[in-house]
Amino acid sequence: MKLILLNGELLSREQASIDIEDRGYQFGDGVYEVVRIYNSHFFELDAHLERLERSAHEIKIKLPFTISELKQRIEKLKKSNNVHSGHLYLQITRGVSPRNHAFPEKAEPVLVAYTKEYSKEPSRIPGRAMFTDDIRWLRCDIKSLNLLGNVMAKDDATVKGYDEAIFHRGEIVTEGSSTNVFIIKNRILYTHPANHLILDGITRRKILSVAASLDIQVKEESFTKQQLLEADEVFISSTTQEVRPIIEVDGQPIGNGKEGDVTASLQAELERHISRSEK
Ligand code: PMP
Repeated sequence: MKLILLNGELLSREQASIDIEDRGYQFGDGVYEVVRIYNSHFFELDAHLERLERSAHEIKIKLPFTISELKQRIEKLKKSNNVHSGHLYLQITRGVSPRNHAFPEKAEPVLVAYTKEYSKEPSRIPGRAMFTDDIRWLRCDIKSLNLLGNVMAKDDATVKGYDEAIFHRGEIVTEGSSTNVFIIKNRILYTHPANHLILDGITRRKILSVAASLDIQVKEESFTKQQLLEADEVFISSTTQEVRPIIEVDGQPIGNGKEGDVTASLQAELERHISRSEK
């Protein structure tokens, strides 16, 4: 039976319960992370936990444990569940308190984590995307549980038969509903700077360092919808999807309408980093 981590305890799903006045449940008042597990190892765990700590700090949640304690707990969870290839989902809410918008003085943060084993690897098949207005708030750098803007955009894309919704503010492309967006023009890699308008993806960071090691020039500069449509290659990145080529946006083919060489070499180099990290 797969176990769930609730604060310090490993419980069955039936045993675990969340209070109806948990602020995560009522306000989305919390933060989360998704960490990939390859060959029974977490990938980039420290980077994820640092980002979690930062997200919590930005919304004034004080973690009631150290990062090394948290690490021990999730390692134990992974081991108990014997996960080979999959991911860990982890969230921390502000805790339980009578419903009131202001932060409660006394509330103990609630940690929930569970693992998911993949029956097959997530699809990296070249995808099709649509543009959508970025109606989200201005702190997209915080990995908050409040994902309504993201899920509404993703649902709209799904219903219309697309694989991802790509957000834009005015003419500027920001990121995908659950991914970072990159374009390649004349062998230069562009992606939106890591500011308050996007989540600084762990995969994004990895791709930028991998690109440098492949001598691909990187520019953390914003680009327009038009520049994206005229790019040689476009791809999206995330913990679960790694590097996924986007070959069409709003029905317009990108480049020659196939996965590009730079995209393929970045994915291949990322895979090398992943297999090295498994040892
Ligand atoms: N942007 C958003 C809005 C996301 O939800 C995600 C996925 N967590 C990403 C970017 C990619 O981040 P990461 O590479 O850390 O998974």
